[in-house]
Amino acid sequence: RKQPGSHFIKHIIEADLESGKYDGRVVTRFPPEPNGYLHIGHAKSICLNFGLALQYQGRCHLRFDDTNPMKEEMEYVESIKEDVRWLGFDWQEREYYTSDYFQQLWEFAVALVKNGDAYVDSLSSDQIRQYRGTLSEPGRPSPYRDRSVEENLELFEKMRRGEFAEGECVLRAKIDMAASNIIMRDPTLYRIRQKSHHRTGEKWCIYPMYDFAHCLSDSIEGITHSICTLEFENNRELYDWILDRLNAYHPQQIEFARLNLSHTVLSKRKLIELVRQKYVDGWDDPRMPTISGLRRRGYSPGAIRDFCDRIGVARRDSMVDLALLEHCVRQELNKTAMRVMGVLHPLRVVIENYPEDQSEMLSAVNNPEDESMGNRQIPFSRVLYIERGDFMEDPPKKFFRLAPGREVRLRYAYFIQCEQVVRDENGEIAELRCTYDPETRGGDAPDGRKVKATLHWVSAAHALQAAVRLYDHLFTVENPAEQPDFLEVLNPDSLETLTGCMLEPGLAKAAAGQRYQFERLGYFSVDPKDSAPGQPVFNRIVTLRDTWAK
Ligand code: ATP
Ligand code: MG
Ligand code: MG
Repeated sequence: RKQPGSHFIKHIIEADLESGKYDGRVVTRFPPEPNGYLHIGHAKSICLNFGLALQYQGRCHLRFDDTNPMKEEMEYVESIKEDVRWLGFDWQEREYYTSDYFQQLWEFAVALVKNGDAYVDSLSSDQIRQYRGTLSEPGRPSPYRDRSVEENLELFEKMRRGEFAEGECVLRAKIDMAASNIIMRDPTLYRIRQKSHHRTGEKWCIYPMYDFAHCLSDSIEGITHSICTLEFENNRELYDWILDRLNAYHPQQIEFARLNLSHTVLSKRKLIELVRQKYVDGWDDPRMPTISGLRRRGYSPGAIRDFCDRIGVARRDSMVDLALLEHCVRQELNKTAMRVMGVLHPLRVVIENYPEDQSEMLSAVNNPEDESMGNRQIPFSRVLYIERGDFMEDPPKKFFRLAPGREVRLRYAYFIQCEQVVRDENGEIAELRCTYDPETRGGDAPDGRKVKATLHWVSAAHALQAAVRLYDHLFTVENPAEQPDFLEVLNPDSLETLTGCMLEPGLAKAAAGQRYQFERLGYFSVDPKDSAPGQPVFNRIVTLRDTWAK
């Protein structure tokens, strides 16, 4: 019965389909609160909910859980839509908003009051907290707990009309102040917020709490399986209580483990802090674990979906290594990305026996993994750049690249040999004087002699100068969230900007978002914000070295 890619939520859905519990329907939802940008943790939930709908020919609703006017904005609504679409999912007809149900939710609340299941409490929020008790100590009833239904109806109506100040009173469910599950000790259902809402404007000044709004929104929309993260396990009892008391259609809440990813934080509150305090350059900074940051960095939707498949769905919290996400994007780009040559730290090389004022075109393979991607022509001439790190004047035993008197291959070009090191007035190496062997055109010697290294290079006269940004982990520790202050473990070297990099000339035409493998260096993509026509800025998506331990 165990199929690859199967998990406990699929087993629940399959059992429900078999028993006819929801008349064969599968309706899931992805319910973000529009109070920040989506991150890779949300991608896990998106892939799960939309993926289940696709697999079982059901539907998945995109629902904005917009019940808190204090923190929500239209900018976030728009970014969420863009990110879900970019990940490759489609929410069909329209999106849903909890705020569209404010009238219905109010009527449900009135029904609870009429049944004696809810009351208006005039304790302050501090008092409510004190009265609630602790795990070891039962709560005490509020002195307002036994208000009559008539009085509660009148007070709740006054709350709605704006006759009370914020904090003066709340509506609470009347459940059990001694419940072992503290959430069930008369939870707050409605509170007053004298604040304009981004969609309903001034219409409401009372707003429903998450636990009240969520189960009823699921119910109104005919959701069958309401999937949430494990922190809500204790809230399930309240979810069920509200729907049962109101005799409402009853979806099934199912909890799964949230994604934790190493060397980053996945909490909107912390991500907002990074943005507001300008530790990063906005929500879409390529170092951010946001969908928009990953997109700008050069990640593809396919790689993120593949990652979400591989991490699976379980009921136990764990930490996923960032190296797995990197592994997924490498796997894809290895098959799809065009190879090019670019020198990040240029060292000038003059080929003394190559004619001045001459150049030639050499043929280079675009992708050895995919013949259909064809070949391209790259210029070669007397003055070239190679990577500074590919030369050592006094090499240790295991260094096989260029050194005085040594011969190496230039990729797709010729063998060259280093004859002389030229220094500038500061004693720094300014250029290398080399010779080439015209017989080795294309990369092999007719006499069969071998070289131990093949270097990438770019012709100086033809090179495109560009800026390249190298990224490292945003945090220096695996789990920054468990530090007393996560800002203390920010990596000061998470961004290195290189200017004056020398790239093969064809890259002048690279379009925003285009992804390449710079041979021997890694995968890079054209930054969509900072590039100008003919002047691309490249972001390193990931290095070539795979550190994922299978
Ligand atoms: P945060 O803790 O970052 O504020 P949240 O849960 O408050 O996240 P919501 O906008 O409410 O953010 O999330 C929408 C959906 O995404 C919820 O169903 C939530 O369970 C899911 N989700 C959020 N973070 C993760 C995560 N790290 N892993 C898996 N699912 C997540
Ligand atoms: Mg939430
Ligand atoms: Mg939140």
